[in-house]
Amino acid sequence: MQNISNQSLIKKSSFINGQWLSSEQTFDVFNPATEESIASVCEVDSFQLEQAITSAFNALTIWQDLSEATRAEKLNCWQNLMREYADDLARLLTLEQGKPIEEAKGEILHAANYVKLYSKHTEGLNKPSKVDAVSGQNGQVFRRPIGVVTAITPWNFPCAMVLRKAAAAMAAGCTVVLKPSELTPLSALALAQLSIDAGIPAGVFNLVVGSNAQAIGEILTQHPKVAKFSFTGSTKIGKKLLQQCASGVKRTSMELGGNAPFIVFEDADLEQAVDGAIASKFRNGGQTCVTANRFLIHENIVQEFTSRLITKTKNLNIGDGLDASSDLGPLINSAAINKMDQLIDRALADGAELVHGGKQNTQKESAQKKGFYFQPRVLQNITSEMEIFNKEIFGPIVSITTFENELEAIQLANQTELGLCGYLYTEDPQRIATIAAKLQIGMLGINESRLSNPAAPFGGVKQSGMGREGGHYGIDEYLDYQYVCVKE
Ligand code: ADP
Repeated sequence: MQNISNQSLIKKSSFINGQWLSSEQTFDVFNPATEESIASVCEVDSFQLEQAITSAFNALTIWQDLSEATRAEKLNCWQNLMREYADDLARLLTLEQGKPIEEAKGEILHAANYVKLYSKHTEGLNKPSKVDAVSGQNGQVFRRPIGVVTAITPWNFPCAMVLRKAAAAMAAGCTVVLKPSELTPLSALALAQLSIDAGIPAGVFNLVVGSNAQAIGEILTQHPKVAKFSFTGSTKIGKKLLQQCASGVKRTSMELGGNAPFIVFEDADLEQAVDGAIASKFRNGGQTCVTANRFLIHENIVQEFTSRLITKTKNLNIGDGLDASSDLGPLINSAAINKMDQLIDRALADGAELVHGGKQNTQKESAQKKGFYFQPRVLQNITSEMEIFNKEIFGPIVSITTFENELEAIQLANQTELGLCGYLYTEDPQRIATIAAKLQIGMLGINESRLSNPAAPFGGVKQSGMGREGGHYGIDEYLDYQYVCVKE
């Protein structure tokens, strides 16, 4: 933390109505690379939560009374500051989350890109569109900001998830109360400091931090002044929060779990497929909702694919994210390590074959004593009945299943309750068209493993959630339509 050049970015309490509000109780934030506490952060209390929502409610008029151009200018200034302090923000992010520093910097710039994009989307939002007239009437449709938006975000992208929601909501004219993950609040709090420096009025962007997620979530989903709730996290918690929102008929956006198939056909460019697999599986240690979760590989190329993948996996450098030579940082905490161990044990008991990495997590025992390091593993002979096929792994385990033909690949890919995204490697344009139409997913990469694009609609189908983030699709989530019919 001493190496953060702008020390004003280090904040340890909730940011409410433009103020940093401390409290008696605190919780610790840990560095997953050292397992040491890096900060004690004040717990938000119920009085402060009420204050946050009320100040967001009161700030609606202030924010909406600004011209579109002024709102755009403030958002633009905010994203410029993020770029100016990208190194500091990235360092904070790596310290609390563990990802390699280059990935952290990439996340900050990606997040700033959302704010930049949405600063441009403010233009023309208040302009009505005409609807076909009924005789004697003049009909217009306005888009109105929904109101106070509350949100809860996860720890795997502590800045990008915050800004993807907040920037879209704020561009639409809404105000925000957001709870970042208690595991990674520090980089989000730094963003709040920059919002002051950007001249964003008090009450427009509020961050509430605390370790009692359930209690905070109950208020954010049920407070009468809240119009909309947006969540990114697990499907299990998303379902709970949706139920909580139902009593007040709150609008909701849900970006939930994924179980992405990574399908490789015989005719694929194998080197490209292996590189894509490595990038998708090991980015952020596999702790992303769009990570390749199930490798579905044509039976004629599975041996070659696996052997090339293992060679490249062996070359990955595992270490502290602050060390520029690390490709793979630690996992987020000890619970994540235990989950990986258990998934592997049960898969092996069910008949999977371990083809890379020892049965024990040697990474933890040898190279690094401290830190939540986990050695990547490659498992073969995974069948669709196994737990590991049906669960979001969220870690650096490659799980390989074979298929014989197109039909079987599609059936396997769709054999899950989730439908966030998928990847397809083939050189056959006909096959691309057929399979794209049949996969039950919200996003598909073809011979490409990087899906992130602030202008594209990000989101899933089935139990991966509802609503989209990114582009004009993302801003629509924070606007209501109002039909105005004038008698001529
Ligand atoms: P993950 O497994 O990625 O941590 P979670 O869904 O558990 O996903 O967490 C995502 C976010 O949801 C975090 O900010 C966490 O604090 C919050 N959260 C967890 N449980 C609850 C809950 N019962 N109510 C409200 N928020 C919760």
